[in-house]
This record gives sequence, structure tokens and C-alpha cells, in this order.
Amino acid sequence: MALIVQKYGGSSVGSVERIQAVAKRVGETVKAGNSLVVVVSAMGKTTDGLVKLASDISPHPSKREMDMLLSTGEQVSIALLSMALQEIGQPAISLTGAQVGIVTEPDHTRARILHIATQRIEKSLKEGKVVVVAGFQGVSSTEELEITTLGRGGSDTSAVAIAAALGAEKCEIYTDVPGILTTDPRLVPEARLMERITCDEMLELASLGAKVLHPRAVEIARNYGVSLVVRSSWTKDPGTIVDSPKPKPRSLVNLEIARPVDDVEYDTNQAKISLLRVPDEPGVAARLFGEIARQKVDVDLIIQSIHDGNTNDIAFTVMTPILNKAEAVASAIAPALGTSNGEEEAEVMVQQHIAKVSIVGAGMIGHAGVAAEMFATLARKGINIRMISTSEVKISCVIDSVDCDKAVAALRETFDIEDEVEENSLYSSPNRLISPSSPPVRGVALNMKQARLGIRRVPDLPGMAEKIFGTLSQHNISVDMIIQSQRCHLVNGIPSRDIAFTVARVDAQQAQELLQKAAGECGWGEVVLDMEIAKVSIVGAGMVGQPGIAAQMFEALSQEEINIQMITTSEIKISCVVAESEGVKALKAIHTAFELGGDEEFVIPA
Ligand code: ASP
Ligand code: MG
Repeated sequence: MALIVQKYGGSSVGSVERIQAVAKRVGETVKAGNSLVVVVSAMGKTTDGLVKLASDISPHPSKREMDMLLSTGEQVSIALLSMALQEIGQPAISLTGAQVGIVTEPDHTRARILHIATQRIEKSLKEGKVVVVAGFQGVSSTEELEITTLGRGGSDTSAVAIAAALGAEKCEIYTDVPGILTTDPRLVPEARLMERITCDEMLELASLGAKVLHPRAVEIARNYGVSLVVRSSWTKDPGTIVDSPKPKPRSLVNLEIARPVDDVEYDTNQAKISLLRVPDEPGVAARLFGEIARQKVDVDLIIQSIHDGNTNDIAFTVMTPILNKAEAVASAIAPALGTSNGEEEAEVMVQQHIAKVSIVGAGMIGHAGVAAEMFATLARKGINIRMISTSEVKISCVIDSVDCDKAVAALRETFDIEDEVEENSLYSSPNRLISPSSPPVRGVALNMKQARLGIRRVPDLPGMAEKIFGTLSQHNISVDMIIQSQRCHLVNGIPSRDIAFTVARVDAQQAQELLQKAAGECGWGEVVLDMEIAKVSIVGAGMVGQPGIAAQMFEALSQEEINIQMITTSEIKISCVVAESEGVKALKAIHTAFELGGDEEFVIPA
């Protein structure tokens, strides 16, 4: 007999008929010989309705009262579902988060789960009952036993956490779409259902998948090895399996506030090639990386910084053994990239004796300050950062290899990593799940909610990145892509570089003001803001060690004459910033280029 946790979202319990249909499905699963815990969301758009009511009364309602209000939505659906189960002869009991003992931080409206008591659930299961638990809510760890909520969309997180605490066989998330799709079907109707995806890929696609699966739920599944599936409550179709690697054993105490960073990795086997002053026009990255791919050179990180005048810098890293070949290819192609008015042709620069150090962890999603903490740690040790590359769950810095041991030790201390850190060359990352069947590109995401900030002429000294991102994190502003230009300018004899990064649009103006204030004191140049950008990303664990994936993405953009403003990569993700007006076109072109589309158009449920 298996213990299964099922979670039904708002649309799956949106009406009496839907609740009865869910009861029927639950009843059948029990009859098939399973024990069931069912987690439910509030009916339909109930939570939105409650938020609206609150805002009609107060422009800034107290967070405590918001939790009191919003938690009522789930209480309605657990009671009704239990009644529906009892009505078909299936014993059931409903429990609120507090009754179960879903203990959270006292942080209202966005509490993280600390611990889940299992006794009461287990007792009812033993009595042959289906236990129906209110998602999205908990009770504070404080004496007051306050009612808390986990943040919008949080009942996925409740369900996966309960599955982890109970050691359930699997957790099924039922929703109104058939599973996880290769991209947003409202923008690309050919989007296709994925049969499987890894947790790492899912997290990198957070901006694509967040509506289907709360990223915090994916994080818990990954950390505790919960087997997870997303499927439609309307059909019997199998949906999408979200695979996690075999986890390290982990305590169930402080379940969600485990460290934001759970690994430090390094790789000393890298060299960097930069091309300075390549023309800032469509097709350049495609030509460069196309040629590199044709020569079967596998590149690791790629970055392209904001342009200065009419030219860009593009830099990439390769494994040392293929450096000579990579340099030869880059030098051969450089003249063919053309020149822009009056500039000299692109210059190729090679840097050896570099190392890549990375911090990895799902907990850094939406956590302002993790990047700043990394930069601060390196600055304290006087280590200069040569290149920064970021993804949703990883930040990598390229530094001089003589500094590598010092950097790794300091980062382990800062982020409280106890296990021995092993050198992780690109192809041997232990906690990455790469099977031969992993496609190089699993899905494509478009993010139109970001803005780009650039700071000109930042002195090339240890501590500058810390100053910038520390300032922002003190104001709770999370940054996403961070890119340092390769080109140095001498300003009063001090070498300086431009640094560009993206933030959520809602934070952009404030970020610009904060940085403008700091600019004088720190000797930075102008702080420029561009609100009209879009970020397109491809994600796939199978791109590791496969030359040519980046080239194919750039080529798709080039075909559409779309100019790439910024590039950044991690092992399993490549992101490009383009103009906002070209975002959707870029998404479609890339989705098609990787042949991700199905034959049928996806029908979006009403
Ligand atoms: N009812 C909550 C919301 O709408 C939680 C959830 O549905 O996951 O955000
Ligand atoms: Mg949801």
C-alpha cells in the first residue's frame, strides 16, 4: 500500500461539480489500495477575491490580517471536499495547517516552513481516512500561534513539504493544464507537453513554470528527493514527471530555511577568450559561435556585455586542453565579424590561469543578497572578479587560479558548507542529473518583467561588485543577470569596466536612484536604465558537453534580424537580452529552431 500526496489547485476545486469529480478520483485511488493525503487550494479565484476585498478597505492592510483573511479560502475547500468524500462513502477528515502542525516562520504573507508534525495525519490515515489538508497556510513557531500563509501559489509547497515529511511514495500536483510545456502556450500555440524534466531544469525555468509549479515546491522536492508529477485533474493522462537526483540525507527540521546555497563548486581547468570591439549588430554572435561549433569546440560560459558606442565585447571560457584550438578559431573569424564605423577590427585576448568558482542552490531564487554575499566574501580576501555569470540557481565568478583555494575556503565558510568540496569539472557535477536521453534544450522561457541597468566606468578593483549589489540587497532588490564588460578603460589612470545587470521592472527606478547616489562616492560613471528589454532563455541538462547549442540559439535570433544586447550562461542555461518589442518573436524563433513544437496547437483551458 502506497502513501500518496495529491494536491488540487483552485481551478480543480472551482465548483461543486469539480469538487465531486476530485472526490471521485481520490476515492478510486484509495480503492486501488493507497493511503491518501489531499492538499487543496482555495476554490477558483477565491484568493484574488479576498485580496480585492482587503484592498477596497485599506490600501496597505496589515499583513497579519491578510493572512487571517486569505487562509479562509482553503478552509472552505477542505471542508467541502471532505463532505464530498464522505458522501460517496469514503471516510475523510479535513485539517487546517495549524491542526496538522505545519509550523512556519512568523513572517506573515510569505512564511517559510520550519517543520511539519506528522502524528495527527498518521493517526487519521491509520483509521482509514483520507486526510484533507488546507494548503498555503501554517502556524507560526511563536507563542502566539499566529496563522501564516506561504505566499501566493504556496499550496504546491505545502503539498511537497508534507510528502517529504511523511516520506510519501509520490506527490501529484493536479492542475488545469496537462503538465509542464516547452514554453508559454499563450505566446506559442505549438508548445508541447514534456514527459519529464529535472528539478534543476525546472528551477532554471522558474519564470516559465512558476504558474504551474511554485519554485519553492521544486526546491523541496529536489532537496528531499520527493518524486513529483504535474498532471491535469480533467484527464487520466500521465502529465510531466519532475525528476530529482538522489539527495544527500537532510534533516526535516528547518525544512525550508536550510541554506540558500547548498554547494560551492570550482573548476581550475578553464581559460578565457575575449573578443573586444565586435560590431553591435544582429548575427555577430551567431557567426562567431557558429564557426566555433563547426570546429567542434565546446564552450562553457559565454557573456556579452552592454555595448559601448557601436561595439560589444564577447567572452567565453573553454577547457584548457582545447584553448589553442579555440583561440585559433576566434582569431581566424575576428576579421570576418566586420568593423563598425571608424573602429579597428575585433581584438582577441586570451587569459590563462583562471578558475571558475560557483555557488549553487535553489534557495537563492528571490533571495536578495546571495550574490552580494558572494562578492563581499571575495572582496574581503582581496580577490578580483574577472567575469560574472548568473542563472536562477547558480552564480559563477571567474577569478585568477592562484586565488582559487582561498576563494573556495572563504565561500564555504560564508555559506556554511561543511562537506568537502570537490573539483567539479563541467562534466562531472555529482548532483546534476544528466541522462543520455536529456535533450540539449528542454524548454524556452521569456521574461518581460525585467529592466536593465548599466553602470559605466566602475574601477576594476576588488570590492566594487560587493558595493553595487550590497547596496541593492540592503533595499531588498534582487538582481538577475549580472555581466561585467571585458574591455578596460583608463579613467584617471585607473582601469575601469562597465557592469550591467537586470532587475525586476518594479524595482528599476529605485535601483537607479540608489546607485546614482553611490556613484559619486565610489567613482563610478553614469548609471543608465533601459526598461524595454526582454530576456529569452533556453534550458536543458543535455546541453552540457554538446558544442553548438549556443550557436543554434544565436543563429535563430540572427535569422530574424534580432540584435542580442546581453548574453549570459550557466551549464544548463543560455539567456539573451533583446529589445522588448522583439521578445515574442525571439521566443517563437528559438522554440522553432530547436524543434520543440508539436503538430497540434495547444488549447488553453478556459
Ligand atoms: N490560494 C492561494 C493562492 O491563490 C494558494 C494557492 O492556490 O496555491 O495563491
Ligand atoms: Mg498554483
